[in-house]
Amino acid sequence: MTPDQRRQLRADLLEIAPWLTHPEHGPQAVDAGSCARCEQAPRLLPTCGPAGHEALCRRCALELGDDGWCDGHHEEGLAARAWAEQLPPRWGDLVVLWWVATGELRPTAAAGISADELPAWVTAALPPPAEPPR
Ligand SMILES: [Zn+2]
Ligand SMILES: [Zn+2]
Repeated sequence: MTPDQRRQLRADLLEIAPWLTHPEHGPQAVDAGSCARCEQAPRLLPTCGPAGHEALCRRCALELGDDGWCDGHHEEGLAARAWAEQLPPRWGDLVVLWWVATGELRPTAAAGISADELPAWVTAALPPPAEPPR
């Protein structure tokens, strides 16, 4: 993807998901990658709990509850989980697309994302799925 295409994808994504640029939660607040607990879903929330997780997906953060945050940050944890709960079901796909758009992930990271229910102008920016594994 060219820098122009990435810039356009960022603008397009913010049209449907302005929450992607929240400074304290979401893909801008964590390094690109998978949840430190389940290693399946993308990371969404930075955490500081006794377990030492660095960043969790929504499901893991909700499952851990207060345990995901240290004693001094329970209020922050509560706010983070409330924020995560109101995200759309496809938050994970949108987070991955955001990281592709920022250049933090290779475009191939978006290959597994279904185009269903995404606006055509977003799917038009997606790379073709046929790239062979390196
Ligand atoms: Zn997880
Ligand atoms: Zn803390």
